[in-house]
Amino acid sequence: MNTLPSPARTLSRASGAAPSPIVGRCTLVGAGPGDPELLTLKAARAIARATLLLVDDLVSDDIVALAAPSARVIHVGKRGGCRSTPQSFIEKLMIQAVREGEQVVRLKGGDPFVFGRGGEEVEHLRAAGIEVEVINGITAGLAAVTALGAPLTHRDHAHGVVFITGHAKPGSGGPDWRALAHTCHAARLTLVIYMGVQAAAQIQAELLSGLPASTPVALVQHATLAQQRHALCELQHLHRTLEREGLGSPAVIVVGEVLQGLLALAQTAQSRAA
Ligand code: SAH
Repeated sequence: MNTLPSPARTLSRASGAAPSPIVGRCTLVGAGPGDPELLTLKAARAIARATLLLVDDLVSDDIVALAAPSARVIHVGKRGGCRSTPQSFIEKLMIQAVREGEQVVRLKGGDPFVFGRGGEEVEHLRAAGIEVEVINGITAGLAAVTALGAPLTHRDHAHGVVFITGHAKPGSGGPDWRALAHTCHAARLTLVIYMGVQAAAQIQAELLSGLPASTPVALVQHATLAQQRHALCELQHLHRTLEREGLGSPAVIVVGEVLQGLLALAQTAQSRAA
């Protein structure tokens, strides 16, 4: 449930005493992919000392529960069918709260600097003269592949990784999937696609212009949480598999030869069951 922020508060000071400096602080904290055990110690400490937490969607309640009972918690995502809070409002709220002396924690899923708008928030806070600390979280793309027991790089299969969004900012063109497909094939890179479920059919069609139809793909939903589900398939069946398995957001789509062992196992199991 969304709790509305309180109006500006006046800090009480003993009359006659010199005004004490207000030492508010703002920390952007990566909450990791979901499993609270994957939180860093630094993140857990920052959450515990916060007086105000602004919490994104995809941050599990078990993590928010690490906050002090007296802390105010504001959910700024789309939980409960509500529209998400505008980014500019969140930033104003953070600036105001820090100036009032609050220990503000902005809690974001995964890592704040990976598709989390952390960069935009840090720029606005710094422009307002506010120092920001950023605490890394395990990003979903990394956790999702690990949750299946596969690596992102491998000396025999992949020399590197591309983390990319399938959902561009409105008005911008979005990734050049054809160029990426050729680069990933030639340079042997694993492709990890965030927010790609809606555009999966188009992504599949365009990636097939540069990657073999048999390239292994993993689809992982709710990685590291109790409700985690996944499917393995070839690139040529990506969209069909998503639909057949009913996999939806939040999910990452992983494309690359690092998954070939897992895909072979899944295909063997399927043909035995058939
Ligand atoms: N900052 C986050 C990403 C935010 S964008 C991070 O570093 O992980 C939101 C997207 O992340 C989702 O649409 C989905 O693609 C991915 N995502 C986040 N949590 C996930 C999870 N537990 N399992 C699978 N994908 C997840």
